Amino acid sequence: MAKMGSKRGGKEDPEVPGDADESKNNRKRALILCFLALPVLVAFYGVVLWWSNPHTPGDELRIDEFTELLRQGRIQDAEILETDSRIAGSYERGQYWVAFSGGNETIFARLTSALEDAGVPFSVTQQPLKNLVYPVTLILPALILVDGLFILFLLFGRGGDGFSAFSRSGARRHQSGESKITFADVAGLDEAMEELVEVRDYLSNPDKFLAMGASVPKGILLTGPPGCGKTLLARGLAGESNVPFFSISGSDFVEIFVGVGPARIRDFFKVAKESAPCIVFIDELDAVGRGRSTHGLGGTDEREATLNQLLVEMDGFESGSGVVVLAATNRPDILDTALLRPGRFDRRVAIERPDVKGREGILRIHARGKPLSDEVDIEEVAKRTVGFSGADLANVVNEAALLAARRGSTVVEHRHFIEAIERLMAGPERRSRILSPQDRYRIAYHEAGHALVSTALPGTDRVGKLSIVARGHAGGFTWWIPEGDQASVTRSQLLDRIAAMLGGRAAEDLVTGDLSSGAMGDLDAAVSLARRMVTDFGMSSRLGAFSIRPLLNSATKEGLMSSGYSERIASEIDAEVQDMLRQAEERAKAVLVAERKVLDAVAHALMEAETLEGDVLDGLLLPVSQAPETVRL
Ligand code: ADP
Ligand code: MG
Ligand code: ZN
Repeated sequence: MAKMGSKRGGKEDPEVPGDADESKNNRKRALILCFLALPVLVAFYGVVLWWSNPHTPGDELRIDEFTELLRQGRIQDAEILETDSRIAGSYERGQYWVAFSGGNETIFARLTSALEDAGVPFSVTQQPLKNLVYPVTLILPALILVDGLFILFLLFGRGGDGFSAFSRSGARRHQSGESKITFADVAGLDEAMEELVEVRDYLSNPDKFLAMGASVPKGILLTGPPGCGKTLLARGLAGESNVPFFSISGSDFVEIFVGVGPARIRDFFKVAKESAPCIVFIDELDAVGRGRSTHGLGGTDEREATLNQLLVEMDGFESGSGVVVLAATNRPDILDTALLRPGRFDRRVAIERPDVKGREGILRIHARGKPLSDEVDIEEVAKRTVGFSGADLANVVNEAALLAARRGSTVVEHRHFIEAIERLMAGPERRSRILSPQDRYRIAYHEAGHALVSTALPGTDRVGKLSIVARGHAGGFTWWIPEGDQASVTRSQLLDRIAAMLGGRAAEDLVTGDLSSGAMGDLDAAVSLARRMVTDFGMSSRLGAFSIRPLLNSATKEGLMSSGYSERIASEIDAEVQDMLRQAEERAKAVLVAERKVLDAVAHALMEAETLEGDVLDGLLLPVSQAPETVRL
């Protein structure tokens, strides 16, 4: 296999095996040749066909006319063309020709004797070239057919040598300078970027590092939630580094054909080692790196073999061999423990959802090249998008631009950003849905209830907007505006939030004396939050400092080994969750009863205006008095 030099601006996406470029060229040459040969062959065939037909000037005579004329002595001379089975010559009226059925000895003999008898001078011409016509007319069409098939094959065939084409790793080799993405396109991941910058610098100047006796890690694992820029960061590294960069997705190794996965890994690493120094990037590592299980039906064997091969290959390089393996996964928790042992992925870089500064940076990156109005406050947009991932933010900018275009505006305005955020959180408005007056009333009170309880309790976020226009499945909507990024939340804050979640339901109950199915989403969220408080955060008074995360089987990392706790604890958890919810609902009701006047005012304003936000909403909620400190359970 020829060693590849790193060419700038080479053809895009060459296959990994080194001679791929060359074989591609050969293929092109053969194709051109075949294309040129086709018209030549066809023309030749045509010429041969035309020429093989007899061409004799003069009148055609039937054979009986000819013998008659012969007898009358009106024929002057004759030439017998043997292969053409014709007699040609001149007679009193000029040129003539006669066709006779060829190959018949008796006719031939009779003709010659008749000519002799008539004393007409004649000659027999052998036409040896014409004897070749028959084999040529057989061979030429066959050649044309074969040429045509070759063209089809070269155009559409997979090429390569049969079965081994299956094991081609399918990796992409990025030429340096090919990727337009650089670290400048990544925001908010400074620490992670630092690690990668170190790798880049090491690979471009290993001597400097070796002189210091420092060794750069063999494997770096990027972990973190989806859409936060792991793949992007790797692509940035590809664009920045000046050594070859190979990328492949873990799922490319997972194949239904037995033995293909391990073969692909072998191919992939073989090519990488030949191109050292280089960077190898395996995206979605969990597809191959999932823990091995001892049980399980078919299919898992293949995956295990693939994973084993990966482990073998990773042990295969010396550190300092110049191959750095970069991998990314959303699920580090399910990776096989063997992968995480030192010497394989020995450095782990956690990528988190961006904080407010990071979000601002990401929004600015994606807003580049879009016509933004001067009044757009990117900082404010960043503040409003707590918990959004990088991909969500890219979406916000795109959606805002789409909205601006749809609304016929030439620049993207701040309100388009806000609307984009709302659409992404809750789906587009469904203004076409007609509500009965009762539903309108109930939904208005429901949303007003959320707003009131949130305003009264200190631990909740500020309410930024209320709406009774349907979106997605929800009849109405309450938007909370987080104050900022919080590293952690306290127990009292969480209890306040649960109360605010139940505020809508409590208001419905209070004013209509009835409950509706519309509060299902709120209820689900409240229950799961309460449950997490008890089981994950150890925030219950009954169970105390106790975490009851379900235990995963430590070897396979999948499936519940057991619930991990006893029946007694299970019923304690349920009782505790129930208590929390009951008390939260009582607190919500207490607020609503105390602030009934404000509740009515907000609900009626909402029925009137359909959406309330900004100063209007703040003004309506102003009279709400802050509830004293959170009640302790
Ligand atoms: P994942 O972590 O799941 O691999 P990606 O890297 O594929 O996420 O990110 C998806 C998209 O989100 C990127 O193409 C980019 O547009 C945007 N994005 C995510 N994180 C960032 C970031 N830190 N800076 C800029 N854009 C980002
Ligand atoms: Mg990714
Ligand atoms: Zn609600």
